[in-house]
Amino acid sequence: MPQSLPLETRFWSKVDKTTDPDGCWLWTGYRSNGRGKIGSGGKRGKVLLAHRASYEITYGAVSDDEIVHHKCHNKLCVNPNHLELVASRKDHIKLHSALSSEQQKEILIRSMAGESRGELAKEFGVSRNRISQIKHYGERKSWDNCG
Ligand SMILES: [Zn+2]
Ligand SMILES: [Zn+2]
Repeated sequence: MPQSLPLETRFWSKVDKTTDPDGCWLWTGYRSNGRGKIGSGGKRGKVLLAHRASYEITYGAVSDDEIVHHKCHNKLCVNPNHLELVASRKDHIKLHSALSSEQQKEILIRSMAGESRGELAKEFGVSRNRISQIKHYGERKSWDNCG
């Protein structure tokens, strides 16, 4: 695919969208250190992280201080619905460390056993969405896949 094509065109040609509308869309293009990357194109082109490029294409430009967080914790996923903008590095670390992995495991086990999201959310002091995420994606808390 020639570099001269717009970023958006080059970007989506490298994405494997699943038939499941809520599923992860996987980046199939260039990778380094396990992270998807794409050249921004143009004369003063730079290399963008693929998930960041997805966010920018979909929602508009992201400033250098902002982090694009993977809600699904899937490194190669570029589904804009799974991405969330976080204002700073500090907030981002907080987001990932709010619950220990033991706590996440406990939530996972108890929610599988049928405890309600609302009760678990109250007990652990997090949102019901967070409980759903843990339930849906299991216990994964690495944050080096965001950026
Ligand atoms: Zn995803
Ligand atoms: Zn993150």
